[in-house]
Amino acid sequence: MSNKKQGLSRRHFLQLMGLGAGIAAVPIITKAAQSRPHIIVVGGGFAGATAAKYLRHWSKDVDVTLIEANASYQSPILSNLILNGQRSLKQLNFSYDKLVKNYGVKIVQGNVKKIHSGKKFVELEEGKKLSYDRLILAPGIQFMDIKGLDRKKVLHAWLPNNEILQLKKQVLSIKKEGVFLISIPKKPYRCPPGPYERACVVADYFKRNKLGGKVIVLDANAKVTVNANNFMRAFYETYKDIVEYIPQASVEEVDSDKGVVVTDVEDYRADVLNIIPPHQAGALIHDNGLANDKSKRWAAVDPLSYESTETPYIHIIGDSQGTGQPKAGHIANSEAKICADAVLRLLSGNSPYYFPRTNSACYTPITNKTATWITSTYAYDLTSNKMKLIKGSNGTSKKPTEANYQRMYDWANSLFGDTFS
Ligand SMILES: Cc1cc2nc3c(=O)[nH]c(=O)nc-3n(C[C@H](O)[C@H](O)[C@H](O)COP(=O)(O)OP(=O)(O)OC[C@H]3O[C@@H](n4cnc5c(N)ncnc54)[C@H](O)[C@@H]3O)c2cc1C
Repeated sequence: MSNKKQGLSRRHFLQLMGLGAGIAAVPIITKAAQSRPHIIVVGGGFAGATAAKYLRHWSKDVDVTLIEANASYQSPILSNLILNGQRSLKQLNFSYDKLVKNYGVKIVQGNVKKIHSGKKFVELEEGKKLSYDRLILAPGIQFMDIKGLDRKKVLHAWLPNNEILQLKKQVLSIKKEGVFLISIPKKPYRCPPGPYERACVVADYFKRNKLGGKVIVLDANAKVTVNANNFMRAFYETYKDIVEYIPQASVEEVDSDKGVVVTDVEDYRADVLNIIPPHQAGALIHDNGLANDKSKRWAAVDPLSYESTETPYIHIIGDSQGTGQPKAGHIANSEAKICADAVLRLLSGNSPYYFPRTNSACYTPITNKTATWITSTYAYDLTSNKMKLIKGSNGTSKKPTEANYQRMYDWANSLFGDTFS
């Protein structure tokens, strides 16, 4: 029987034969003989910053430039705690200085607009051009349109910026018996537990301040997408007089002035709307023809290297990639390390490591003192050429506890440290 029939491509067969040798063993050689390989990373979030750091951590034979639109990064992780005053924006703000100082990553602040994949260079908004040997893209997500949604009035607070401060202002302005409405798009979306977590944080605020009122959760999915036991207990027991959970309710239209949401179930009115529109890969991916998965929303990649299946020498990691793994910061950090390792191996003339594993983990506050957690691990499956959930690796905490709340900060600090310092 040929290797192909057994589901083994020639490339993967060679990898299994041990040709994915260690990166340090072979000197890195580029086409232009002695010149050092230049890797450009675009996007300095959990995916891109980690990739830039680890490329230089693992090899001083490459030059790495991180191009990021903003001067620093505002973490969405823990940002729901800005709503209840337990975290400040400053505590969630990370500069790129340590990547420069500790690893020699070069930082360019700017917006990459166009990728010239033939000649291997990127073009920034202001016209600057930078050439690469390998390009890693980590631009996160962008939102899809919803009829009538004015994103200046109706906030999502779902991107790495300071919009959460404006949402906090809106929440604090809610009077007694007021209504807060959050909508959850169909999967896949960024941070599966995040919207349920936000609903709990706001409901907790209503409860502690005896506001009465309601938190309406409009879920386009058939049921709570993750950690369902803990969230359902929170909605139907802890916040039973406050939270109204409505599954299978897709937002079809928004009246941004009147605070009305039209769904396929019925219309809802609220004092504060927090509409999280459906997502797709960042604009950079779409504008450069890299959103080529089945849905045409995400970038299809080889899960061994995160190299685009569309365009060689371009790798896509984090929330923009379309491997089916969750869209979350912890696993974006994991993917980034696999990608960085693969890029260094490829530059050394080797194959990517053939059995990568990634991990996703998340702590979720349920009240202002208790939290739950979820975790899952994925491994490369040779037969399907996909990252697959390892059976039995996914779990959740049995119930929210105070100890979990403390561990949430330890977990987040270690992720922040691993990404930005
Ligand atoms: C409320 C909330 C809570 C969350 N909690 C958790 C959690 O507990 N655990 C967890 O694992 N995940 C969590 N997440 C999800 C996590 O924040 C994202 O999955 C993660 O940020 C994705 O990382 P990324 O690097 O792919 O994208 P991003 O973090 O969005 O970073 C993308 C970066 O690329 C830059 N960029 C985009 N386009 C360009 C361009 N053309 N040129 C230059 N720069 C560009 C952007 O400025 C941005 O800095 C949460 C998210 C939210 C909203």
